[in-house]
Amino acid sequence: MSGNRLTKRDALDRTVLLIRRVLHLDESHADQIVQALSSISVCILADCKNLKCFAGQSCFVTFVQLVQAMGCQVKLVMPEVPLMGPQPPLIGDELRAALVAYGEDSMPESSIDLVDRISANDLVFVLGDSRLDGTTNAGWRLSGGTWWGATTTIHGGAPRWVGEFPVGAAVAAAIASVEPFKAAIRILKADLRLNLVASEQFDPTPAAQVDLAPGVVVPGHLLLGDVDVISAGAVSMAAMHCLLRCPDLVARFRVFDPDFVGVSNLNRAPLALLSLLGAPKVEAIAQWQRHPAVTIVGLQKRLDRTSAPQFGARAPSCLVGCDDIPTRWLVQEQMPRWVGIGSTADLFTLTSEHVSNIACARCLHREDDAFRDTVATVSFVSYWAGLLIAARLLRNAAGHPSSADQQALNLVPLRLDLPNAARWGRVARWNCCPICG
Ligand SMILES: [Zn+2]
Repeated sequence: MSGNRLTKRDALDRTVLLIRRVLHLDESHADQIVQALSSISVCILADCKNLKCFAGQSCFVTFVQLVQAMGCQVKLVMPEVPLMGPQPPLIGDELRAALVAYGEDSMPESSIDLVDRISANDLVFVLGDSRLDGTTNAGWRLSGGTWWGATTTIHGGAPRWVGEFPVGAAVAAAIASVEPFKAAIRILKADLRLNLVASEQFDPTPAAQVDLAPGVVVPGHLLLGDVDVISAGAVSMAAMHCLLRCPDLVARFRVFDPDFVGVSNLNRAPLALLSLLGAPKVEAIAQWQRHPAVTIVGLQKRLDRTSAPQFGARAPSCLVGCDDIPTRWLVQEQMPRWVGIGSTADLFTLTSEHVSNIACARCLHREDDAFRDTVATVSFVSYWAGLLIAARLLRNAAGHPSSADQQALNLVPLRLDLPNAARWGRVARWNCCPICG
C-alpha cells in the first residue's frame, strides 16, 4: 500500500500473483502485469430492448463487475433504464447511474465511463441483439436463457434477452469475462517474448455455450429453506450474488465467516466495495436480505470443531466456499441433506455436491493440503465456482437435481469452446472414507 492511498496494485495483488504463476514471472514484473490489465479497454454495449428484462440487466451488471475487478478500463454505451429488481451490490433505481457509482466504489484508481460509441482499440461486448454502430473484429455478443449462457462472434446472430432467471445471465457474463484477461496475457506474452505451454488456452474464444440444466423448467417459487453458507469469501459471495437475483426465492441463510473485507478482496469478491473495507464480510452479504422471503443472518465466527456445537445442527443444505479442507470435512460429518462445495486453484474450478448414498465430500477431498499461503485468484474463476454451486442448489430446489454423472465438475474457463474445458463425472467412493466408508 502506498501511504494511506489505496492503489489498483493493492487491489489486484492476488490477480498479479496468479498471472505471475501462470507465466512464471517474478515479483519484478508486478507493475507490468497491472499495466497490461489496465491497458485493456472494454466497451460494453446494450440497448433498451435487451435491458428491459431483468435477466438482461443481470448479465450486463455481472459482466461489468467481473471486468472491473480485473482492473481493465470499462466503458458503457447504454441508455438509462430503471432497475427492474435487486442487483447487489448496485444501489439506486437507475441502472446506468448505479453502474457509474459502482465504478467509484469498486476498483481503486478506476472508473466506469459512459461513451457514445466504440473505439478502435476496444474489446467490444454486446448484450443480446443490441444494435452495434461501428465495426470491430474484437467483439462478442452475450446471450442466454434460463440455465444457459453463450458468447458468439459480434457478427453472428444472438437472441434478445428475455425473462428473469439469473443463472443463464451469469453464465454468459462469466464465459465472456475471460476475454479481457486473455488479451492482457497475450500482451505480456508478446512484450516479454514468452514461450507458453498450451498457449492456445489464451487465444480468443470465438463462441462458446454452457448449459447447466438442459430442459429444466424453473417453478414459480424456489423454496431453498434453511441454507448454511460456510465462508463469506469470493466463492460464497459469487454464489449469493447469483442466488439473490432469483426473483421468487424463499430462503433462510446463515453465513459464517470471521473476516473483514480487505482491499485484496476487490479483485474477486462481487459483493465487496471500497466503502465496505473493514466491515465484516458476512455483513457485505447479509445487508442484501429481503424480508420476509429471504433472510440472511451473518455470524462473524469461524465454523470449526470448537465452535460448531454453539451453532446447533447444520442446515439441511450447506454451501461451502472456503479453502480450508478440514472445514469441508466438518460440514460433511454433520450429514446435512445436501452439501455443495466450490473450490478453485489458479485457473481451475472444482465444484461438487454430496447427498446420502453417494460419495461424500471427504471421498473427493481426501487429504488436507495444508495450503495456507496467499491464494492466487482472478474474478472469473471465483465467480464460476460460486455460480456452479448456486446452480446446483437451485436445480435441487426446482426438483431436478443434477444426475450422479454430474456429481463433480472440473472446469477451466479459458477456452470453453475446446473439448475437456468442462469435465463432469461421478466422485469415486473411497473405501477407507472416515465419513461414509
Ligand atoms: Zn466419503
